[in-house]
Amino acid sequence: MALFDKFAAAAGTRDLLGSLPVNPTDVVIERVLSASEAIVCGRPTIMAGTNNYLGLTFEADCIAAGQRALAEAGTGTTGSRMANGTYRAHLELEAELAAFYGMPYAMVFSTGYSANLGSLVALLGAGDAVLLDSEAHASLFDGCRMSGADIFRFKHNDPDGLAKRMRRLGERARDALIVVEGLYSIRGDCAPLQEFAAVKAEYGGYLFVDEAHSLGVYGEGGRGLVESEGVLDQVDFVVGTFSKSLGSIGGFCVSPHDVLTLFRYASRPYIFTASPCPSVIATTRAALRHIATRPALREQVWRNAHQLYGALADLGLSLGPDVSPVIGVAFRERDVALRCWQGLLDAGVYTNLILPPAAPEGGSLIRVSVTAAHSSEQIETIVGAFRDVVARHAPGCAA
Ligand code: PMP
Repeated sequence: MALFDKFAAAAGTRDLLGSLPVNPTDVVIERVLSASEAIVCGRPTIMAGTNNYLGLTFEADCIAAGQRALAEAGTGTTGSRMANGTYRAHLELEAELAAFYGMPYAMVFSTGYSANLGSLVALLGAGDAVLLDSEAHASLFDGCRMSGADIFRFKHNDPDGLAKRMRRLGERARDALIVVEGLYSIRGDCAPLQEFAAVKAEYGGYLFVDEAHSLGVYGEGGRGLVESEGVLDQVDFVVGTFSKSLGSIGGFCVSPHDVLTLFRYASRPYIFTASPCPSVIATTRAALRHIATRPALREQVWRNAHQLYGALADLGLSLGPDVSPVIGVAFRERDVALRCWQGLLDAGVYTNLILPPAAPEGGSLIRVSVTAAHSSEQIETIVGAFRDVVARHAPGCAA
C-alpha cells in the first residue's frame, strides 16, 4: 500500500460530510458574544454545545488575572517543565489543586489529553493489567495502548463486568489499574463509582478516575463525582482538565500516593512538551477559586440542567439515564439526527452532532449541554427549537 493510500477512508468521510448543506465539522464560531452566545453562520446563536459548564470564560477577574500574567510574565514559557518551563505559578497551581482535593500530591500538564496520556504511560508498562471502561475517552484508551500494558475492556458502567475480569486476573488483580470516567461526555451518564470502589476493595488494584466533565459540577465543594459519591478517599488518581468548567486549557493529576512526584521523571508526554503559558495558569487559578467559593454557580447549572432535561423528556425524546448538564438526544437514523442538528443551527441553537462510530452503540446523537450562564429564556428557546425540528424531521420521536 502506498503511504498516502490509508487516507481513502478519511477522504470518504470528508466527501460525505462535505455533501451536506452544513458540514458539522466545519462550523466556525465567528465571534464570541458571551459565555452562552456567539455569532455562528452569520447569526446570533445560543451555544448549547460547549463544555463551559459554569460559564466562567468571561468572568471579569479571570480575564484580569490572565491579562496581568501576560503583561508580567509574557506570552509563553517557551520550555518544558523539566528543562526551562517551570514558573512559580505552576507550582502554586499544583499546591492549590492538591489543597482543593485534600490530597498531598498534584501535577499540572499542558492539556487534559496529555494529563491522561502522561499519567497512564508513567503508571503502566508491559506486563501490567489495566481494566478500561468500554466507553472511556480516546485519551484514556491511547494512554493505555501507548503504555504497552495488557488492556481488558469491560462493559460501560458495569461493576459486575469489572468484577468478572478482576476475578479472571487472579493474583494480577492486586496490581491492576481500573480506569473510568466520572460524568461521561456524550450521553451525560454517571459512573457507579461506589460500586467500582467496592470491586477494588474486594479484589485489590488501583482506581483511576477521569473527572474532566464532573469537576466543578458535582459535589458540595465542586470536586466532582468522586466527592458527591463519597469515594474521594478510595480513589488513587484523579485526572481532570482545565478546558471545561475552568474555562482555559491544561490538565492535572492528583493523588494520595507519593509516586506521583516520580511521574515527572517517567512521563514522556509531561517531559517533552512546553509548559502551560502564564496567562492560562493565571485564569485557571482564578477559576478554581470560583469553583471552590461559589456554590451558587453549581446550583444554577443544575437548575438549568433540570429545566432542559425535563422539557426534552416531555417532548418524548430518547435521553440518557441521568439528569446532568450534558444531555445526549439519541436518534435511530443518522439522517434524521443530521437534519435535526441542521434545523437547530438554522434556528440559532448550536449543539454537537455525534455520528457513528463516535456515538455509543452505533447510533447517532445530538449532544446538548447547559452552562450556569444560560438564562431560563435561552433554555426555553432551545426547547422550542427542538420541538420544531422534531415535529418537522422526526415526528415519530415526539410524544
Ligand atoms: N478526558 C475526557 C473525558 C474528555 O472528554 C476530554 C476532552 N473532551 C479530555 C479528557 C481531554 O481534555 P482536553 O480537551 O482538555 O485535552
